[in-house]
Amino acid sequence: MHVPFLNVKESYEKISEQVDKAVLSVLRSGNYISGPEVQNFEDKFAKSVGANFSVGTGNGYDSLVLSLKALEIGRGDEVLVPTNTFIATWLAVSAVGAKPIPVEPDQETYTITADGCNKVLTRKSKAIIPVHLYGQPVDLKPIIRLAQDHGLKVIEDAAQAHGARYFNKPVGGLSDLTCWSFYPGKNLGALGDAGAVTGNDTELIDKVRFYANYGSEKKYDHKMLGINSRLDPIQAAILSVKLEHIDTWTNSRRKIAGRYLHALSHTNYILPTQIDNTSHVWHLFVIRSQKRNELCEFLDINNIQCLIHYPKPPHLQNAYKHLGYQRGTFPIAEHLSETVLSLPMCPHMTEEQNFYVIEKMLEFAQNS
Ligand SMILES: *Cc1c(COP(=O)(O)O)cnc(C)c1O
Repeated sequence: MHVPFLNVKESYEKISEQVDKAVLSVLRSGNYISGPEVQNFEDKFAKSVGANFSVGTGNGYDSLVLSLKALEIGRGDEVLVPTNTFIATWLAVSAVGAKPIPVEPDQETYTITADGCNKVLTRKSKAIIPVHLYGQPVDLKPIIRLAQDHGLKVIEDAAQAHGARYFNKPVGGLSDLTCWSFYPGKNLGALGDAGAVTGNDTELIDKVRFYANYGSEKKYDHKMLGINSRLDPIQAAILSVKLEHIDTWTNSRRKIAGRYLHALSHTNYILPTQIDNTSHVWHLFVIRSQKRNELCEFLDINNIQCLIHYPKPPHLQNAYKHLGYQRGTFPIAEHLSETVLSLPMCPHMTEEQNFYVIEKMLEFAQNS
């Protein structure tokens, strides 16, 4: 048996008739930038994530950059970011000229907390970017309260959390702005690069929209130093189709996660925990093991594809050498990077594949 980590082609194949039709209709429309397909997706997406407004963007990274720009965060400002995230969260802060201030996560949930944020706040702090890592919503209320007390903005990085809920409300309209990626491997994935920003403040969302379109509301009238980062209508049409299937696919992820959690509960593996009042969407199913590298090799030999999210935290990347962080500065993130392993998690994984991974995981646990 062979178990791929994630098969994005299969998601397309399952609904190819619908997707092909949607793509063809854009090709035949003659409208290749913005327009009705984009607006249609923006409206549907906003509704699905409980936000008043949504703006399509070029990708998840741009969504973060545009949100920071719309909130007028830049040179001289500090923005709190998790130590354990995909580097895009940090890079967006750097791109607007602000300084990323690392916040260590909780050791059990791997997400940042208000207490963690409180420890690193300074007078220069302007915003917090909580990341709903692996599909697990951050405990947001205390973070929003802390932000309000100190006059900070909250921008959620929800690139891994499509469909996730917090206190029974969807992630998407809970803070100042929420940033989405539709990178093909995300829970809601386009067939190319795409992203969005959602929120409830019409002025703020318009500002994101103008920044993303050369800083112009009207053609050839440029209010600000904008960029070009628009959602492609072909991707918008594909996303509208895929949005109809996201709940089914999320349920399938939950079923797979449930089997992993149940079957591996009496082993030495450290299993993912779920924060109270959140619903996890299992973008990734991440376990921890002291013998991570051996386990990785063992699964590989048995044709099970696993990945590491993430093998090196941003503060140890060459890109951030200028911040001067040494190994040992953020021990939680460093320890996570040495012990985490993401098991195959694909909505189209069969029960047999699921049980095969479990069987091999148990075999390794018994023999090591
Ligand atoms: C994927 C991802 C991004 C970036 O999204 P792109 O669409 O690839 O630019 C940002 N943050 C997190 C946490 C991600 O997982």
